[in-house]
Amino acid sequence: MTTYFIDGQFLSKEDVNISIDDRGYYFGDGVYEVIKVYNGSLFTAAEHIARLFQSAQKIKMTIPYSEQQLIDVAKELVKANEISTGHIYLQVTRGAAPRVHQFPDFSVPVVVTGYGLVNPRPTTNLEKGVAAKLVEDVRWLRCDIKSLNLLGNVLAKQEAYEEGCAEAIFVRDGIITEGSSSNLFGMKDGIVYTHPATNLILNGITRQVVLQLCEENGIPVVEKPFTPQEAFEMDELIITSTTAEVTPVIQLDDKEIGTGMPGPITKKLQAAFALRIPAFVTGN
Ligand code: PLP
Repeated sequence: MTTYFIDGQFLSKEDVNISIDDRGYYFGDGVYEVIKVYNGSLFTAAEHIARLFQSAQKIKMTIPYSEQQLIDVAKELVKANEISTGHIYLQVTRGAAPRVHQFPDFSVPVVVTGYGLVNPRPTTNLEKGVAAKLVEDVRWLRCDIKSLNLLGNVLAKQEAYEEGCAEAIFVRDGIITEGSSSNLFGMKDGIVYTHPATNLILNGITRQVVLQLCEENGIPVVEKPFTPQEAFEMDELIITSTTAEVTPVIQLDDKEIGTGMPGPITKKLQAAFALRIPAFVTGN
C-alpha cells in the first residue's frame, strides 16, 4: 500500500485528508519535484530539493522545512514504500483558503505532500529510441519554474501520444525550447547543442548531469537554441529527464533522425550516465 507524506505525517491513502480549498486544486498554485530512486537510493536528491526551494522562492512561497528535512522525507518515502527502482514525488501548494486569486493571509500554512512509486527504468525506449512530435509552445514565460500549472505540457503530450509519439517537442517563435516533460539535445558533427537555461525551459537536473558528462568525456557542447529544420538535420537527438534518463529520439514528425538508430554520442552518454546510477542500497 502506498505511503503518502502529508504535512509532517506518513499516512496510507485512506487516511489522507486534503482540503477541497487547496490552492493547488483551484489554481495549480504550487511547485513540485520528481526524484528518481535507483536500487533503493535517491539520485541527485540535493539538486532536486534545491530546485524545489528555488521554484518556491520564484512564486513567493516559503517552505517550512529545511532542504535536509525534505531529503529525509524523501528517504523515508523510499523506505516506507519499499522502492528499489522508482521515484519520489514532492509537492508544495500555497495552502487551503477561500478561492480568491491573491495570496491568502500569511497565517495560512503551505501544504507539503509526497508519495513514492515503484517505476522501472524505460529500458526499451533507452535501447531503441522513441518518436517525437513538434508542437507549438503556448506555455507562459516562466518555464524555469517547476510549477503545478502544466496544462500546456499536458495538451502537448496528449497531442504527441495521439500520433503514437512518446514526447512533444515545443517550438516557440521558430526555435525548439524543450520537451513537454524533458529537455532536448541535438548532436551534429560531434558537437552537442541544447537550449540555454533561460526562462523558456526548465533547467532539468538530468540536463545538468548530461552537460557534466559531456565535459568529463571531452564532448563539446554549445548551449544555443536550434530550429526544427536544424533538428531534422541533426545526426542524433536525445531527450533527458528524471524518468526518461537519456532517451534517443529516432524520429521527429515524419523525419528519421540520423540513421534511425541510437547514435554513438548518445550511447556514450548513456553508458556514462549508467555509471552514475547508485548500484546498491547504501542507506543514503
Ligand atoms: N522540462 C520539463 C518541462 C519537465 O517537465 C521536465 C521534467 O519533468 C524536464 C524538462 C526534465 O527535468 P529533470 O531532468 O529535472 O527531470
